Amino acid sequence: MHIKELVLDDFKSFGRKTRIPFYEDFTTISGPNGSGKSNIIDAVLFALGLARTSGIRAEKLTDLIYNPGHQDGSVETAGEREASVEVVLDNADRTLERSQVVNAAGTDKIGEIDEITIKRRVKETDDNYYSYYYINGRSVNLSDIQDLLAQAGVTPEGYNVVMQGDVTEIINMTPHARRKIIDEIAGVAEFDAKKEDAFEE
Ligand code: ATP
Ligand code: MG
Repeated sequence: MHIKELVLDDFKSFGRKTRIPFYEDFTTISGPNGSGKSNIIDAVLFALGLARTSGIRAEKLTDLIYNPGHQDGSVETAGEREASVEVVLDNADRTLERSQVVNAAGTDKIGEIDEITIKRRVKETDDNYYSYYYINGRSVNLSDIQDLLAQAGVTPEGYNVVMQGDVTEIINMTPHARRKIIDEIAGVAEFDAKKEDAFEE
């Protein structure tokens, strides 16, 4: 399974609908400072519900909505504003096979389709904001997305996304703390936790 395409709409600096293709093995994104490279990573974290506390670089969810006055600090507040990000996953290898969720028409089963789209929207009204998740166009909860992605080993606690500064942090850790991360990645930590639970019972 891999990300095939990202579709950003009014997300951060992407003030119009932008499609970004991803390749199967390796994709790099280059550009001048401030051109939006990290915003693309933020988009993935946002849409897949993977943001750890330090994850997305924004104080509140509504900061992620495109704001033409962002550079000079002015905020456009007129009426409703909305941002969305779609992550198109290539599931031809059937990494994702189980889900309660089917498409909007209720026909496809996740394990039988080649392409799965996870989408998140954030909408701001005059006095509130709302966040919505979708799998193949069907409205779902964050836990549905997490259950689905866990089948590919993608979790919020995981190290699937290595952020700026993470590498330095790992280098500066104690050997014990570093070992914990390796256990986490190797999937050993899950069994350690289960073993501990079993001893307690
Ligand atoms: P660097 O090479 O320095 O890491 P980068 O390519 O990663 O740069 P980003 O951090 O992705 O750049 O993009 C920063 C730009 O995004 C800034 O110009 C900032 O003004 C703009 N930006 C962030 N949030 C918004 C928003 N809500 N609306 C409009 N522009 C935004
Ligand atoms: Mg950056």
